[in-house]
Amino acid sequence: MRWWQTLRQFFLRLFASPPVLIRARSVTELPETLVANQLYIVGEAGWQWYVALLCPCGCNKTLYLNLLPEQHPSWKVNVQADGTVSLFPSVWRKIGCQSHFWLKQGKVEWVKEERGQG
Ligand SMILES: [Zn+2]
Repeated sequence: MRWWQTLRQFFLRLFASPPVLIRARSVTELPETLVANQLYIVGEAGWQWYVALLCPCGCNKTLYLNLLPEQHPSWKVNVQADGTVSLFPSVWRKIGCQSHFWLKQGKVEWVKEERGQG
C-alpha cells in the first residue's frame, strides 16, 4: 500500500463517526444534568443502588434501573476495564418512546420486534 493510501485511510478512520460507546461513571449522587452516552452508577460505600442514563434513542428522558436484587425488576451492571458497560437484562421502556435495547460493552443493540399491543 502506498503511503498516501495509508494516510487517506488514517484520515477516513479519524473522521468517520466512531461507534458511540456508553461508559460507566460511579457517583454517590446523580448530577442534575446527565451527559449522553454516560451511565451513572449511583451508590455508596461499595453498594450499587441504581443506574441512570439518558435514553439512547434521543428522546432525552432519563432511564432509572434498579440494581438491588431484592427489588424487582432489577438489573445487573458490568463495567469493563475500558469503562464501557453492559446491562442485563435488556432495557424496555413501557412508556413514551418504548425503546427496547440491550447494552453490551457500551454498545446499544436495539431490539426490533413487533410491539404486541393488539
Ligand atoms: Zn427514548
